[in-house]
Parts: sequence; C-alpha cells; structure tokens
Amino acid sequence: MPAQNIHIGLCGAGIGGLAAAIALRRAGAQVTVLEAAAELGEIGAGIQMTPNVSRLLIEWGVADIIGTNLVEFEELNMRRRDGTKVGYTRMIPNVRRDLGYPWWVVHRAHLHSGLVQTALQHGAKIHTNSRVTSLDYTSSSSVKVQTSSPTHPTHTFDLLIGSDGVNSIVRRTLFPDVKPAPPTTNCAYRAIVPYEQIRKDPIARELIEKLTMEVWMAEKSYIITYPISAGQDFNLVLSHHVDRLVDKVEEVDVEEVRRQYKDYDPRIKKIVDMIPEASRWPLLVTGPLESWSSPGKNVVLMGDAAHSMVNHMAQGAATSMEDGAFLGRCIAQVVQGRLKLAQAIEVYEKGRMPKAHFKQQVSFLNGAIWHLPDGPAQEARDKAMSLELGDKPVLRSPNLYGNPTTSLCVYAYDAEEHADAELYKYINGKEMMDEEKNITKIMADKYLNWFLPEDYEGKQLRIEAKL
Ligand SMILES: Cc1cc2nc3c(=O)[nH]c(=O)nc-3n(C[C@H](O)[C@H](O)[C@H](O)COP(=O)(O)OP(=O)(O)OC[C@H]3O[C@@H](n4cnc5c(N)ncnc54)[C@H](O)[C@@H]3O)c2cc1C
Repeated sequence: MPAQNIHIGLCGAGIGGLAAAIALRRAGAQVTVLEAAAELGEIGAGIQMTPNVSRLLIEWGVADIIGTNLVEFEELNMRRRDGTKVGYTRMIPNVRRDLGYPWWVVHRAHLHSGLVQTALQHGAKIHTNSRVTSLDYTSSSSVKVQTSSPTHPTHTFDLLIGSDGVNSIVRRTLFPDVKPAPPTTNCAYRAIVPYEQIRKDPIARELIEKLTMEVWMAEKSYIITYPISAGQDFNLVLSHHVDRLVDKVEEVDVEEVRRQYKDYDPRIKKIVDMIPEASRWPLLVTGPLESWSSPGKNVVLMGDAAHSMVNHMAQGAATSMEDGAFLGRCIAQVVQGRLKLAQAIEVYEKGRMPKAHFKQQVSFLNGAIWHLPDGPAQEARDKAMSLELGDKPVLRSPNLYGNPTTSLCVYAYDAEEHADAELYKYINGKEMMDEEKNITKIMADKYLNWFLPEDYEGKQLRIEAKL
C-alpha cells in the first residue's frame, strides 16, 4: 500500500484527547481537535502522573514544558485514620531505579497547559467553542461532524476519535444504551490548601516537613494528599459515602467536609479545617463495552468516553493517555501504508479493551482495600501491609501503589511497546520474539531487558520492532 495522508478529528481537548493529538501528529497524521469549552483548561485540582505515563510526558517533551511544577515526592506513607503508619513505599530513588520513570504529582492546569503547548508545537490544530453536536459516519467512509462553532461549523475526517469524556456525545451516538453510572454511593471531595498556611500551624506542619504522599484509610472513607505546584500547594482527595447515588459535580459547604473527617488524625484534621472551598465529584463507571468503534471503524472511543473508572489507583487520565499513545503507534502503520485504517482500529481495540478493563478492576480493588471496615479484615490488611515497615523486601502487599505485581502491571506498563508487539503479531501472524531463546519481547522487556546495561553486547533479547 502507498503511504497515506489521513485527517483525524478528536472530539474533546481533555488530557486524553491532547495526548492522542500529540501521538497522532508524531505518527504523521493531520490532526484537528474540537473542544466545546470557550477556553482550554482543566479544573483546579491535582493529579498523579504515574510512571506508565510520566514516560510519555518525558518522551514527548511535555515534561520539559511543565518543568518544576511536576513534583516528585520522597515517600508514600499508608496510615490508619488515627495516623498510625501501617505501610510504606520509598519513592525516591526506588521508582526511577526500578520502573525507569518518575512518579509525579501535578496541578491539572499545569499538565493541561503543557499538553496544549506540545500538541500545538507538533502541528495539531485546536478549535475551541466547537461543541460537536452531531456526526454522520454511515453515508460514506469519512465522518462528517457538525459543531456549534459559528466560524467552523462542519468538518470531515477519515477518522473521528471520541475523547469527549464520560458524557461523550460520540459514545451516545454509537451506543445509545450505554449509561455511565456510579456503582456505589462513594464519591470524592477535591481541595487545595497552600503550604504557607499549613506551615503556620504547629500541629499540621509536621506533615509537610518532607514532600510525601499520605493516605489515611478508614471505614468507607479515606484521604490522600500530595504536594503540587512546585511544592507550594497541598492537594487533598477525600473519599466518602453519601446516602444516595451521585452523578454530577456538587458544590458543598466546607462544614460538611470538616464533619466528615472530624475523627481523623489531628494533624490532617487541622488541614481539612483549612480547606477554603470544596466540591463533591461523582465516581462514574463506563462499561466494559463490547466495542469501542463504529461498524466501519471510522469512529472510535478513548479515555473516559470508553472506560471511565473509579479514582482509587489514579489511573483514569493515565489510561486515556495510554490509549492515545497506543493509537499513535497503530495510526503510524496506516500513514506508512502498512495497514488500513480499519485494521489499525481493530488492533487498538484488541490491545486496549482488556487493559482498560483490568485498570477498572484494579481501581475497584484498591478502593475496597482502602475502605475496609474496622475489624478483622482491616486488621489483617494492616498486618500484611506493615511488613513494608521492616527492612526486608516484601513480595506481596495490600499497598497496591508499592506492591511489586501492580507496580509491574500498572505502573511499569509501556503503551507504545505494547502497541508495537500487538501490531507485529497482527502483521506477521506471530509474536515478536527471540526465536532462538523462545522468549517473547514483551516478557523479555518486563523481566530481563530492564536491568541489562544499554550497551550490553549480547542484547539479542532487545528485539527491535521490525514491523
Ligand atoms: C476525584 C478524582 C481524582 C482523580 N485522580 C486521578 C489521578 O490522580 N490520575 C489519573 O490518571 N486520573 C485521575 N482521575 C481521573 C481523570 O480525571 C479522568 O479519567 C480524566 O480526566 C479523563 O480524561 P479524558 O480526556 O478522557 O476526558 P475529560 O477530561 O472529561 O475531557 C473531555 C473533554 O471533552 C470536551 N467535550 C465534552 N463534550 C464535547 C463535545 N460534544 N464536543 C467537543 N468537546 C467536548 C470537554 O470539555 C473536555 O475538555 C481522577 C478522577 C476523580 C473524579
């Protein structure tokens, strides 16, 4: 097949859509992003950028733009509600040493702005004030999109990607019966308190002596905190239950937040009392869906539109970004004339759908662990986790942020490497592997190549993607 010029439209300039725009430009496609909002931006709260996506931020040059607003923290302390430490993960230097990339925490506005700048530098076009109002993907192989924009009301694309979040119009058009829903009455407050204010409090300031992530676990609630904005702001996500299902963001009275956490460790309680304003966020879950695409594979979903998940593993935006990176590798094969568009989308769905489902599962699981009711289950969790406080390596722990298994499957995952392996399999009809040693590239990368020196001569197991 000859090389192809393809024009891809993204509906939605959230974290996922922008990551996809960068990856697709790197793949050589023409990219237009349509965003409903009048101005590009993100809500005022923090977000974790775990090593599975910090690797993308570094590779794509986004990390250089965000600079010191990406904060790396020294340690993760897992605590009971009363402050008792039951688990511990040393983050610096272990995360970079063992997973190869940092675990960052960042203000969403800084992340979003870094992604916008990088997407524009890579040549993506972004139209604001362009709410997608309808799409026609059946009249021809291309997709016609109507928007609310007075200046650019219609667009035609070879492929439309629905990166428009949990209430996606693209998903509602393809799959009108799918309804994202809160699986339980669990939701989360989000809030920020300036470090300056905490420093003035003789009790609370102990918590900010070092840059740390802290988790306080309790029955049906928890608090997770971390530094953002070059270590100037203290970000809190406060999990709780209400007496009804919540499906929209709600403004709440800070007195409600204070009451909810009144029995917590006095140090964090002091900081909760400083929260100037807070909102309650729903935790909506989408799917698992049977398909993410139109029958002609000219429309496809990604991110929260396809697989929104509960927040307990900090993987919603990260999974959206992985989708974008994976799509980029698939579309590169189309641009280079090796695959048809429909084939590339088939590889994307086959590779990413099980991964997104796994992320949803592991997120539920961590929520269940952190919210365990007081009593024998919580005591057993704390006992198992507390092995981390000793000086011996631990092979298994209920602290999924530090557990070796979840670290490898979630935080060491490389979406681009996964895409290359899936594409190789699709094109060549067999797995990418060292035929002599009978070891697949995916297994070699996970268990062996990570520790081999870059210049190791016998690096035959570092099989290059020969697509
Ligand atoms: C309390 C809480 C904490 C979280 N913490 C983390 C974390 O630490 N790490 C992490 O990875 N994830 C976290 N998440 C999840 C994360 O916020 C989401 O998964 C992520 O923002 C989804 O990104 P997205 O780009 O898919 O969708 P969105 O961010 O929803 O972006 C969708 C975009 O599409 C636009 N849009 C919508 N409709 C249209 C339309 N019709 N036409 C044009 N544009 C449209 C919207 O304006 C928006 O810009 C958390 C979530 C919650 C609730």
